[in-house]
Order: sequence, then structure tokens, then C-alpha cells
Amino acid sequence: MTIDKRRIALLGATGSIGSSALDVIARHPERFEVAALSAHSRVDELLELCARFRPETAVVADEEKYGALRDGLAARGLATRALAGADALDEIAGDERSDTVLAAIVGAAGVSSTLAAARAGKRLLLANKESVVLAGAVLMRTAAEHGARILPIDSEHNAIYQCLPADGSRGGVRRLLLTASGGPFRGRSRASLADITPDQACAHPNWVMGRKISVDSATLMNKGLEVIEAHHLFGLAPECIEVVVHPQSVIHSLVDYVDGSVLAQLGNPDMRTALAYGLAWPERIDSGVAPLDLTALARFDFAAPDLQAFPCLALAYEALRTGGTAPAILNAANEVAVAAFLAGQLPFLGISALIESTLAAMSPEPADDLAVLIACDGQARRQATELLGRMVRQ
Ligand code: NAD
Ligand code: MG
Repeated sequence: MTIDKRRIALLGATGSIGSSALDVIARHPERFEVAALSAHSRVDELLELCARFRPETAVVADEEKYGALRDGLAARGLATRALAGADALDEIAGDERSDTVLAAIVGAAGVSSTLAAARAGKRLLLANKESVVLAGAVLMRTAAEHGARILPIDSEHNAIYQCLPADGSRGGVRRLLLTASGGPFRGRSRASLADITPDQACAHPNWVMGRKISVDSATLMNKGLEVIEAHHLFGLAPECIEVVVHPQSVIHSLVDYVDGSVLAQLGNPDMRTALAYGLAWPERIDSGVAPLDLTALARFDFAAPDLQAFPCLALAYEALRTGGTAPAILNAANEVAVAAFLAGQLPFLGISALIESTLAAMSPEPADDLAVLIACDGQARRQATELLGRMVRQ
């Protein structure tokens, strides 16, 4: 018997998630083939991946790099078709050359292609959490209308997905418990964080990730975005979603049922487990991740998050409760703040301050429409950039 291969479009192929996914895919050539790969602007890396995985299509989001991609493919004698620009990302997410899309672009830049995959009824491996924060309700509705199956790749949501009833029912679920490593500054006071540098913030104790999510983990905004993500993916109210700090990052999250049962998913902190789960669902395949050695770990620790030192988590809960465009404003302001911090323009403590002042300067509105949310994202970026200018001049 021959199995139909899954044909995969990887959006954000040159990133941390993209390369972990390609590692899993390369272990199972009989199951998977790469239909399309995309990168933002790093054409040389994209060309190397094209030579190795032979996709039908390669996309560089930065249109100025189109010539370099086309010529590089020709020089290597590859039949891969070159495309460029944001529309091309939507095209490879939505066209019938693939049945599975990995949404692994970082930031709101991924929202349009994530939605294109949902609209096309694809199996959607969802790593791009910012698109859920920005447009969660629209995304879930679109996926339901078009029969797209969303498989969460964020490790916490992947864990919860594995621990919830497979039929989608939520009866008997009391709480979702999202675990948080606490990031590199766990246990530190707010005052001691004033001089943190980008490299310190990106040195995560348990995970190797892109720089934006690494800073989000250091501020705990990552957990805040994940609370909003969990709300949309699993349909639970904010008060039923709790965060617990677990420094070992081995329990990836838990579901608490009304009878007192608590189900958890455990594993070594390596994103290939979630990616293998999503790629092969409902089957299980080897991911390359080492088996968990509980005796070597010896102990698990837990603590409540410190909202004084890490106010971003509280800001995210507040935005979720406010609803409408508030999460979109939160996300946009965070993206501006993190980029400014990484560029050395904003101190670490300025990140939460800038998000808070952007939220205070804008009035959240009800929003059920992608165009309204995207317009709000743009407006919030302009507002945050203006406030940043004032903070920097002070
Ligand atoms: P990364 O920075 O390593 O990679 C991002 C990818 O997106 C790259 O391929 C880059 O070329 C592409 N990209 C960046 N800006 C773009 C733009 N404007 N247009 C088109 N493409 C663009 O990031 P990452 O760590 O792989 O994270 C990707 C997503 O997955 C993020 O949303 C992150 O929150 C989420 N995530 C990551 C991890 C992890 O372990 N890295 C875990 C959970 C969730
Ligand atoms: Mg996560």
C-alpha cells in the first residue's frame, strides 16, 4: 500500500520553528514532501533549503530580493519557482499544491497567510501566535467555516490539545494551567532589570528561539500572548486560564477537570515534539527528541508568576478581558517595543511602559472583522512609535 504524502508549505522556513520542522520532515521522506518554503529576506539560507528540500515554490517576502532568489535558483539548476512579496505568502498558504501549512512567521506579518491557509481548509500547524492574538475570533470562525484543522504548535497549546477530549467537548474542564519557565530573569526584582541588554534577554535557560519570542519570554508577554491564544483556541473564559511558573519546562501545560483529575503533557523542551505531533496527527512519529529521563530531572518546581516584576502578563489579561481591538493594540505595541529594545533604543523596563501607554492612549472598539483589526494594528504601531519617540527624547 502506498500512503499519500503530506505536502507541506513552510512559512518562516528560515526561523527557529521552520528549521525544527524541516529536521522532523527530513526524518520521514516517505511521509512528507516540501511544497513551498518562505523567508523574509535571507535569500542565501532560503536557497540552501531549496537545494536540500526541492520545493515547487520558494517565496521571499522582501520584494527587492526577488532577483537574487530567481537567479540563485537558476544558478543551482533548481526547477523551484520564485515568488516575492506578501501576496505570494498568501498564495502558497492557500493554493492546492499543499495540504498542510506551517504558520511560523513571527509577528502580525503572519496574519494574512495564516488566514489564507484557514480559508483554503488546510491542516494548519499554528506557531504564529501573534495572528491568534490579533484576529483569534476571525481565525477560528474561518477555520470552522472552511473545515481547516488547527493543530497548535506552541508547546503549551499543543500540550493542552493533547489533554483535552478529542471530540472538542469542554464539559468537565475546570481550568487550563499554562506553564511558564519564568524566562531568564525569574526571581529577580523589577528594579534589578533596569540595565538588561538584548543579549541577556535572549539567553533563555531552556529553549533556543527567535529573538522576538525570546524577549517576550523574558518580559512574560509571551505567556500573556499565550493566555489570549488559549482563550481562542480552546474557547475558555479568561478566568479559567491560569499561569503557573515551572522553571524546568518539562510539564508543557495541564488541564484541570472538575472531578479533580489533572492531565498534563510532559517532554524534553524541544519544539520538534509539537511539530511531529502536528505533522503526523493523529499518528505518532519519531521527532528526534531524546526520551525524558525523570530520574535525571529529580524535581519539579512551581510558583505563582510575579506580576509586579513582569507587568506584561497582567496587561495581556486586561486586554483579553476588554476584548475587541484591545489584544490587537497590545500585540502591535509589544512588537514596536521589542524591536526598539532589540535595537538598543528602549530599556528593558520601557517595554511594558510603552505597551501600557499605547493601550491608555487608544480606545479599544468592538471588532469582528479582519479589516478593522488590521487597521487597528497599523494605528497602534503609529501610536506606539510616536510614544516611543517621546520616551527616547526624555
Ligand atoms: P524566528 O525569528 O526564528 O523566525 C521567523 C521566521 O519568519 C523567519 O523565517 C523569517 O524569515 C520570517 N519572517 C520574519 N518577518 C517576516 C515578515 N515580515 N514577512 C515574512 N516572513 C517574515 O522566529 P521563531 O522563533 O521561529 O518564531 C516563529 C513564530 O513561532 C513566532 O510567532 C513565535 O512566537 C512562535 N513560536 C516559536 C517558538 C520557538 O521555540 N521558537 C515556540 C512557540 C511559538
Ligand atoms: Mg509557548
